[in-house]
Amino acid sequence: MTLTMHESLRPVLERLDVPTDLLVGGTWRGGEDGGRIDVRDPSSGAVLASVADAGVGDAEAAVDAAAAAAAGWAATAPRERAELLRRVFTLMHERSEELALLISLENGKSLADARSEVTYAAEFFRWYGEEAVRLRGQVGLSPSGANRLLVTHQPVGVSVLITPWNFPAAMATRKIAPALAAGCTAILKPATETPLTALAVAALLHEAGLPAGVLNVITTRRPGPVVGTMLTDPRTRMLSFTGSTEIGRGLLRTAADQVLKTGMELGGNAPFVVLDDADVDAAVEGAMVAKMRNGGQACTAANRFFVQGTVHDAFVDGLVARMREVRVGPGSDERTQCGPLINAEAVRKVDELVQDALARGARAVLGGERPAGEGCFYPPTVLVDVPPDARVLHEEIFGPVAPVVRFDREEEMLTQVNDTEYGLVSYLYTRDLGRGLRLAEGIESGMLGLNRGLVSDPAAPFGGAKQSGLGREGSTEGLLEFMETQYIATSW
Ligand code: NAP
Repeated sequence: MTLTMHESLRPVLERLDVPTDLLVGGTWRGGEDGGRIDVRDPSSGAVLASVADAGVGDAEAAVDAAAAAAAGWAATAPRERAELLRRVFTLMHERSEELALLISLENGKSLADARSEVTYAAEFFRWYGEEAVRLRGQVGLSPSGANRLLVTHQPVGVSVLITPWNFPAAMATRKIAPALAAGCTAILKPATETPLTALAVAALLHEAGLPAGVLNVITTRRPGPVVGTMLTDPRTRMLSFTGSTEIGRGLLRTAADQVLKTGMELGGNAPFVVLDDADVDAAVEGAMVAKMRNGGQACTAANRFFVQGTVHDAFVDGLVARMREVRVGPGSDERTQCGPLINAEAVRKVDELVQDALARGARAVLGGERPAGEGCFYPPTVLVDVPPDARVLHEEIFGPVAPVVRFDREEEMLTQVNDTEYGLVSYLYTRDLGRGLRLAEGIESGMLGLNRGLVSDPAAPFGGAKQSGLGREGSTEGLLEFMETQYIATSW
């Protein structure tokens, strides 16, 4: 393996032994036309490493490999799969510092966020290792009493897994672990911005003893044709995608040709609601987690704050005080709390949303100005008096910007909360649990944090309503996404 990289990354890569080639059929190899893709540190723009650029021939080879390994892997004992997944969980913990530094370097997030991500990502291997041996079917008597109904679950087959850059480890393990636990073989296509972490995780799976071809990894700067080749191959049976709603819609159209099973984890526009009876200090702490994890670059990031009139000013004062303290800098610097955004285009988009809100009458009580200088940084920003037509309330911000809207009546708040095509997650703060649960039922979202700013948990069903997605990841539901239900009618 030839590595072109920034000197700062060398010791990390050496300890982790991060591959930079494609993984096809258990062999690391270059792309068919020898091209490479530079991976950059968003704090400085420096090239960290270069990875192979796959073409459609490599995509076909990856499907060949996954299809060839499918029957053998599906036939392994659940206990064998479980123990392998558990070994990867242990390996990820043993290498957690190296993995965190790698995530921080290629993604830009703070080391604290990167460490949390490694813990979360590893947990999918432990959880699905535990689930692999617990999968149950059903036996029942038909209502007529004439025969028995047997229901079992079979691995769906070759699965294409596509992941975004914002959680380079966790979005990959949230798919790989259930796919392998279910007995499926897979091809992972990580985001081009952050391929190194996914390649490092694949190497750990092989170190743990994963047979050749069970997981293949393709990196490419031509995702359309390369993924299209995989999705239109008749041997592929499943598409599991995490990314934007826009790209997801296009992939659903392609997947329709073969009626693939699909799991779609798409964009969000999370409301964060603070009711007049809330513990305002707790709401501010929750808001910091929901807004600032990953510098706001999370599908679960609180995108819009709706605060009831009597607590509005106290909440805004508390939030501004906490946001003002946030230290912005390169992710891999221990003192950093908020790293850079992923690239210059992300900074431009965040600033455009802020300027649009200001032009429509919002006020910036903190931040709101794009800094000069190197790196893709944007300052923590709090906007108040944000009018309903501001784009920032309707589009994913993906940055450290908190737009706050004051409301008086619950009905008015519910209308605004649901006025979006998205429905991934919502947050609600109140001391009255009954009131919180009643309102939760009226909020169109797949997940809700009630007095909590964080919902993600490998044991819980993660996923969205409306155009935030289809299906669930995590929990037993996430395992069943990679399985076909088979019903057998029989008598005895
Ligand atoms: P994205 O642009 O949709 O890309 C996601 C993945 O799709 C990347 O691997 C990308 O490859 C690939 N891709 C792009 N165009 C493609 C095409 N034509 N055919 C096949 N694959 C294609 O999203 P992103 O910017 O990486 O991530 C941010 C988005 O992900 C946000 O909308 C966020 O809300 C969402 N997200 C959702 C969840 C969830 O669980 N619901 C979790 C995390 C993120 P390239 O990198 O090569 O472009």
